[in-house]
Amino acid sequence: MSLELQHVRVMRGSFSLEADFSLQSGKVLVILGPSGCGKTTLLRAIAGLERIQRGQIILDGVRIDRLPTEKRHIGFVFQDLALFEQMRVKDNIGYSLKVHHEDKQQIQEKTALLARRFKIEHLLNRYPSELSGGERQRVAFARSLASSPSLMLLDEPLSALDAPLRREMRRFIRLQLAEGHLTAIHVTHDVEEAVDLADEIIVMRDGAVVGYGTMEELEQRPASGWLARFMNLGLVLPVTNIVAGRASDTLEVETHAGTVLSIPNRASLDISRLSKDKTCLYVPLAATDISENHSDRNIRARILRKIHSASHISKLVLMIAGIENYYFEFPLGSHRTEILQEGKEIEISVDTERCQLLAEEPPALDDVVQPVSG
Ligand code: ATP
Repeated sequence: MSLELQHVRVMRGSFSLEADFSLQSGKVLVILGPSGCGKTTLLRAIAGLERIQRGQIILDGVRIDRLPTEKRHIGFVFQDLALFEQMRVKDNIGYSLKVHHEDKQQIQEKTALLARRFKIEHLLNRYPSELSGGERQRVAFARSLASSPSLMLLDEPLSALDAPLRREMRRFIRLQLAEGHLTAIHVTHDVEEAVDLADEIIVMRDGAVVGYGTMEELEQRPASGWLARFMNLGLVLPVTNIVAGRASDTLEVETHAGTVLSIPNRASLDISRLSKDKTCLYVPLAATDISENHSDRNIRARILRKIHSASHISKLVLMIAGIENYYFEFPLGSHRTEILQEGKEIEISVDTERCQLLAEEPPALDDVVQPVSG
């Protein structure tokens, strides 16, 4: 079932949120953003738990924003799961069917079917307090699917789980959503989770959508330096000077780290009108490599921390000219491991063809940096 939000505005106390997007049938949309940006508020509005001030919400061609929650055909799994603690697992799963007066036989059959699908048949007679974290997740998920919803809303359902279980549950959720051809919105502030689950990603900040697209699209063209940094997409370097390059379609960009890089000026920017303190240079992670040879065109960095995430991958926290905010996963490849030690100075080579100027802050640009008057 497809979902469309048209010019929706939601107010919650002094907090205000605007959203305008659509989601195709069978796709998983992940809403990503820092704490307090309005992710839960948006889900609540779609579910009918929050009134909208403006706009329309359309589910499979039918306007639903004036319908009560129970008539919207939406299943949700919230952060706290909200299982009925006094009911056995089987009654939790069958609850919505009972409310809709389905007959006993049908409730039993559907509950058994879901229990098989979610591998919780052996837990049907237990109470929620007798379940592990992962088992509670499965029960909550099964319960939300019992009424065959048109849309699934998942609000950080994995946040209470430890890392290995979270990964396992992520795979499980993805499989269930795909097998059931379900349309779903999943909320998280975990970028790794977003990448794992999403067909499309919406990034929110302070009640506004500041990024929208597939992971690939966001990586190729993040809407702002803030977004690239938040999603850890690559190096985001403050810019101290921009001058026209020798070739007419290039720009010489000096970064706060002192390196001058010659990048393509694809948008034919009028550099006299760029506000340098609001502009940054974005270098996608895929356009960087650790260089073992010195060059003035390399970016110098110091390794603050090194974390092994897998045998051939190294996560590095880098300090670049006094700013510590680069957290990278570098394939070790053929690099000598001794140069990748904490405290070592390294040089990072950059494929300048893939660099671009971005506005530092969202709400950002349609294309590249917007000229600033004055
Ligand atoms: P988190 O990741 O921490 O769960 P979130 O992105 O889901 O955060 P929301 O819960 O949607 O954020 O909250 C958005 C804003 O609305 C916050 O500034 C919050 O303080 C405010 N807010 C939440 N609930 C209420 C309420 N009942 N009354 C007034 N303001 C609220």
